[in-house]
Amino acid sequence: MASRARVRIDPRRCDRCGRCLSVCSRNAIRVGRTFIAIDPVACDACGACVDACSQGALTADVATGSAPRRASVPVRAAPRARAAAVPAATPRSRSQKAASAAGDTQWTLLEALTMLSVTLAAFVAKEAALALAPVRALPVAAIVLVRAAVLAGYYGVQVVALRWIVSRRGMGLRDLVAGDGGWARSRAWAVGAGAAALVGTRVFAIAYGLLMRGFGIVPDSSALLETFGAEPAGLVLAAVLVVFVGPLVEEAVFRGVLLQGLESRLGTPLAIAVQALVFAALHRSAWLFVPMAVLGAALGWLAHATRRLSLPVAVHASYNAITVLAAFALHG
Ligand code: SF4
Ligand code: SF4
Repeated sequence: MASRARVRIDPRRCDRCGRCLSVCSRNAIRVGRTFIAIDPVACDACGACVDACSQGALTADVATGSAPRRASVPVRAAPRARAAAVPAATPRSRSQKAASAAGDTQWTLLEALTMLSVTLAAFVAKEAALALAPVRALPVAAIVLVRAAVLAGYYGVQVVALRWIVSRRGMGLRDLVAGDGGWARSRAWAVGAGAAALVGTRVFAIAYGLLMRGFGIVPDSSALLETFGAEPAGLVLAAVLVVFVGPLVEEAVFRGVLLQGLESRLGTPLAIAVQALVFAALHRSAWLFVPMAVLGAALGWLAHATRRLSLPVAVHASYNAITVLAAFALHG
């Protein structure tokens, strides 16, 4: 396999002076209001930008294999005078954008808070719609469909917001899940860590349930069946929305944009904790709060370790699949 240089940016050093832009003959550097990115497809690793950067913000290391993905990281707000040296965005062709992927994209705090605001607004709208008297008065078969449609709308709003956020960087939704593997590149490690996270969070949930029952607090296990109904059609709806769509959207929101955006300001442990608490709170169940916070923290750590979302999505989907199957099996 061929080896080639890979240019990385240290956002703590970059002051957005714009010198690297002016020396790049390949038009490979793109600057937005809150990030600076290098397109590995356009970059020929000449090193001119590294030499031009007096802040030491750019470094070139050597990667093997296929072309590295685009490095895209947030930068500090630049002083007004210096920021003027940097154009709002480096224009790139559509084919260049399509050819590059997210790689080790680091979302900014502003992007994270924007995504969180959209999620919270959609959550409030979902709860308000389900609480409407005409909806509550519907026959059981109809209300199940309405609940499923409202839940689908809740995820749909978040997907639209995610699309908008990633498109600002010339990326697609699929790029959100992709990554460079972080420090956990071994497939065996990923499988082991994913299995450990799934078993650990499940065992914790069971132990927590037994403990709560010991205190006389019995969980409301009928919420899933109430939402989707106990019929086979309800199982199909739950499988689609809870096992497939939900984990994909929630991982993109919480372990993607939100975790990385918080990480850029709060550091990894605090960012993992905050996104896990928000994730748990949006499950709107006092009983579920602790197990969901533990699950959110485990998924956050997996996302941080692997720098991609495929493993958290797989673990989250498996966790939900067990919940759905258990609810329908126990009912039957
Ligand atoms: S030359 Fe260095 S400090 Fe200036 S914009 Fe480029 S990376 Fe940032
Ligand atoms: S290494 Fe060369 S081609 Fe690549 S971004 Fe820097 S100046 Fe541009």
